[in-house]
Amino acid sequence: MELRELGTTGIKLSPLGLGTVKFGRNEGIKYPTAFELPEESDLADLLTRAKELGINTLDTAPAYGLSEERLGRLLCGQREDWVIIGKAGEEYQDGNSRYNFSPGYLEMSLECSLERLNTDYIDIFLIHSDGDDLPNLSDDVIRAMQDFKRRGLVRAIGASTKTAEGGMRALEFMDTVMATYTPNYTAEKDVLDFATTHGKGVLLKKALSSGYNTNIEDVFRFCFAHPAVTSAVVGTINPEHLRGNAEILNAILRSPPEELRE
Ligand code: NAP
Repeated sequence: MELRELGTTGIKLSPLGLGTVKFGRNEGIKYPTAFELPEESDLADLLTRAKELGINTLDTAPAYGLSEERLGRLLCGQREDWVIIGKAGEEYQDGNSRYNFSPGYLEMSLECSLERLNTDYIDIFLIHSDGDDLPNLSDDVIRAMQDFKRRGLVRAIGASTKTAEGGMRALEFMDTVMATYTPNYTAEKDVLDFATTHGKGVLLKKALSSGYNTNIEDVFRFCFAHPAVTSAVVGTINPEHLRGNAEILNAILRSPPEELRE
């Protein structure tokens, strides 16, 4: 896959990123079918396959169960080959999500993520969302995020948002946003338009509606017709799905722009 720069951050991402919720957590999630957590050797094979396909972007978070610590082991010796998207603000324990967006908590969470991921930096660091984005993205929180970046703990900052207002605030003061934008859900389109006019890149989550829309070609044509979209993070633990998704997206991105539809 041809890498694409995220806005003006200098960070180059594959247009298809790999979401790693299913690497580490199989409880309290809304996928269409239940699944067993994969063996670590299967995940190693999946990452090898991802690399062969030109996928360099991995999305993880403390809320994804064992995802970070498994990636920490799996990426040993190949950290520089990957762009890691990490997050803070949500933890999942004993069947419940807990949220804390105070600057001190975000810093503690970042330190724990660095340790679990066995690295000294996260490429793209996002504030998680409990759905109430605007108050969570306070001036103090944004200053703390900017400070993490100044200290070299993270290379770019942003928020994973659920509201248009939150997405635009994140883009106003930070580098990027992770938003949802699919053929069936366009409530955050203003965020993408705002990103385009401000030269920022957008990451998409849940492009396949968490597995409820597997018309992959239709979804990717729609998502990538918007000029703000740098990369769509799609979750999978199935190597054939990974390969198919990459091939479909490659074909779409090579086709004439008029064949994309918004
Ligand atoms: P998604 O990417 O829309 O869908 C993932 C589901 O689609 C998986 O169950 C996967 O199952 C299935 N799938 C993938 N490719 C397929 C194919 N070719 N054919 C049939 N099924 C296919 O949803 P998501 O996992 O909820 O979100 C994606 C990523 O975004 C997550 O992994 C996470 O990294 C991130 N995320 C972030 C937030 C946030 O608040 N920041 C929230 C949710 C998600 P298989 O494993 O069987 O392929």
